[in-house]
Amino acid sequence: MAKVLCVLYPDPVTGYPPVYARDSIPAVGPYPDGQTQPTPSAVDFTPGQLLGCVSGELGLREYLESQGHELVVTSDKDGPDSEFERELVDADVVISQPFWPAYLDADRIAKAKSLTLALTAGIGSDHVDLDAAIKRNITVAEVTYCNSISVAEHAVMQVLALVRNYLPSHEWVVNGGWNIADCVERAYDLEGFDVGVIAAGRIGQAVLRRLAPFDVNLHYFDTRRLPEELEKELNLTYHPDVQSLVSSVDIVDIHAPLHPKTYHLFDKNLLNSMRRGSYIVNTARAEIAVRDDIVEALRTGQLAGYAGDVWFPQPPAPDHPWRTMPHEAMTPHVSGTTLSAQARYAAGTREILEDFFAEKPIRDEYLIVEGGKLAGTGARSYTTDDKASPGAK
Ligand code: NDP
Repeated sequence: MAKVLCVLYPDPVTGYPPVYARDSIPAVGPYPDGQTQPTPSAVDFTPGQLLGCVSGELGLREYLESQGHELVVTSDKDGPDSEFERELVDADVVISQPFWPAYLDADRIAKAKSLTLALTAGIGSDHVDLDAAIKRNITVAEVTYCNSISVAEHAVMQVLALVRNYLPSHEWVVNGGWNIADCVERAYDLEGFDVGVIAAGRIGQAVLRRLAPFDVNLHYFDTRRLPEELEKELNLTYHPDVQSLVSSVDIVDIHAPLHPKTYHLFDKNLLNSMRRGSYIVNTARAEIAVRDDIVEALRTGQLAGYAGDVWFPQPPAPDHPWRTMPHEAMTPHVSGTTLSAQARYAAGTREILEDFFAEKPIRDEYLIVEGGKLAGTGARSYTTDDKASPGAK
């Protein structure tokens, strides 16, 4: 029987369960590319419940214990004295969420002698050292597509929030003001802007589709070009590299995975090649940008705004400069963990566990590493130190 170690974010400070704003969530069909929603044999929760925090337990306890497995859930994940590190030594399975990542670096993987499955309840497994997982033959899997639309909606919201200067305007009313001129001195219409998406995968394509009705000029860069019909349908301009894209647009929206080819892609040089007063929205991974170069570009006015929900590390220190830099519209890492998304990734996590314990194949689209190599989605989207891809940089 297996020991499953699950790292989840802390409960709400107001207690668990919360008072829900709504009684249900809408049922949605297959994902846009036809991939089916998660198909576990059953779930022990009501969709719309808060599942991603410690007391939510991803709705897994009843199922795992009924199968004789042990479930340990904690939010104490950082440092050698953390509960995570103590429990890791004999864990067979680690489940973690990108919103509250349990970093599985090479040292921790070396300590986790029994570990055979690192499961991301969400999307993005860069908190796992994939090279180390490959060497140790640990399977790495994630719930592909579970929150892609959730993130796309958040990115569109943050594009609008920045361009229309929403958050500063909101602050004026909260603080008793009615300062129209102060609100609008940095407010623009989105219509007519050049908007560039980096990485037109599941999230990037969903963003392009959602932005098209705003009558903007859409651009994109991806290592693989989209089908011609889609480029025509959305009137997309393709750029062969990141440099070409960023110098041609007013707003850059980043949806690439973090791997050696995208790490610190947005540095001072690239930022300075952008149009003055550009905006960046990054809901992909924080380390795609150089932290202090973003702050500097906002201070000088090279960037007009920066938003996103991804930070490094997570949670960031109270004095992390992105908390207080000018013209930011940051949120914590929440875009992919709406109650709607949680229902999907909790179900997908259970589907993966059921297949793993039954020694059945895990869906190819959920796989990042298997059998000592990148596999499934991992083989298409990730690179390791040993495998270079035709990336941008
Ligand atoms: P997909 O795998 O569907 O898309 C990723 C795309 O990135 C692919 O088209 C891939 O191209 C492309 N790509 C890979 N490397 C590069 C590169 N160097 N330059 C440009 N494009 C590149 O992933 P998703 O759209 O589902 O997710 C994207 C990322 O978003 C995740 O990796 C994760 O980091 C982040 N994410 C954030 C969430 C949040 O809550 N904020 C939640 C979910 C995801 P190709 O296929 O040719 O390799």
